This record gives sequence, structure tokens and C-alpha cells, in this order.
Amino acid sequence: MKRFVKQCDVLFISHKHRDHIDKGVAQEFIANEKPVVAATQLWEDDPIFEKITHLKREADIKQTLQIQNGKIKLEVVIYPGHQMSGTLNNVPLVFTPEGISVSQMGDQINEGDFMVDYSWIDNVAKKYHVDILLPPCWTNELYRIVKGFNPELVIPGHENELGHPVDDRVPFWGDTKFLELTNDDLYRSDYHVIQMTWGESFHYIPVKK
Ligand SMILES: [Zn+2]
Repeated sequence: MKRFVKQCDVLFISHKHRDHIDKGVAQEFIANEKPVVAATQLWEDDPIFEKITHLKREADIKQTLQIQNGKIKLEVVIYPGHQMSGTLNNVPLVFTPEGISVSQMGDQINEGDFMVDYSWIDNVAKKYHVDILLPPCWTNELYRIVKGFNPELVIPGHENELGHPVDDRVPFWGDTKFLELTNDDLYRSDYHVIQMTWGESFHYIPVKK
């Protein structure tokens, strides 16, 4: 774990659920003076709360985050996402100094009458160029989300999630048939989608825009 933290500049935690958080990891980042950015629902009654960076959850505001002890200023938009209505789910869009923009969506999902997040999801690409989008594979309207971000590359996450019970791990073949989702619309589209498994890496070459 310490070796992983050593390689990272910042930790973004999307939301409070246990398959997405680990206090020991967050503490290791903080001990090494590396920022931990999270939504306010995390560890509210814990002393670690004061050490967490709570950026504004606002679409279309680029905020600055100092990393590497202030040597680098990272630009980031924290989209005000949700996992259903009850859980705040931060969706950061990070712009690296190397010119790559990447967004990991945590467990972003809207359902039923609660479709509020499409007010920003549908408009991301109108303002920003997104290189890499990492959405949860089981989310509703995955194709609509991808069209909103219009990324160069999609890497669905939460595939074969080992932190889930067996019936809820979402196998690679299961996104459409098992969950009755619209993922096939994405897979059949012209978007570049790559499904990855543990330990794999992918060399992304930035698209000049
Ligand atoms: Zn999850």
C-alpha cells in the first residue's frame, strides 16, 4: 500500500461506500503531505475529516489543487454527482500538466425521478475536451453519459468488482444482458472502449486538440 501511495500525487475519493474508501490509505497520503479530496459525507465524526480537502462540488468551475508540495498546480472540476439520491458522489475531471484530462466517476448513477445530474453530464464536452473517462460499467444510461463527456477513450470500471458479493460482481459479459442496460449501444458506437482487468495497463497517447 505504501508503495502505491508513493507513486501517487493525490487521492480522489468519490463517495463514502466501503468498496471505495480505506482510512489507512487516506492516512498514508496525509502523512506524506499528499492531498486527499473527498465529498463531505466521509468520516464526518472522525478527526481525519479536518485533514481532507473538500473542494466545491460545482460544475464548470476549474479549481486549483497544489500537489508535490506546491510544485505543481493541478486544475480540477468537481462535478456534483450522486449515487442515487442519498449519496454524494464526486466526479472529478482532472487536467494534468502533461495535457491529459481524465475523469473517474466513482459510483455515479441516477435513477427513476432522480435524474438531476444530467444537467451537467449532458454538457461536459461543450466546455472541456475529455481524454479518458472511467464510468462504472453498471450505471444507467452509460451511452448517454459517454456522449455527454465525449471522451477519446472509455475504460469502464467496477468490472469484476471483488469487493462485492459474487452475485453483484458484474462479469465482463454481464453489463447488458445481466443488468438490462444500454451498454451495447456504447460498444457498437464509434467510441473507443477498452475493458481492463487487474494488473493491466494501457499506454494512452494524447490526442492533439
Ligand atoms: Zn462501488
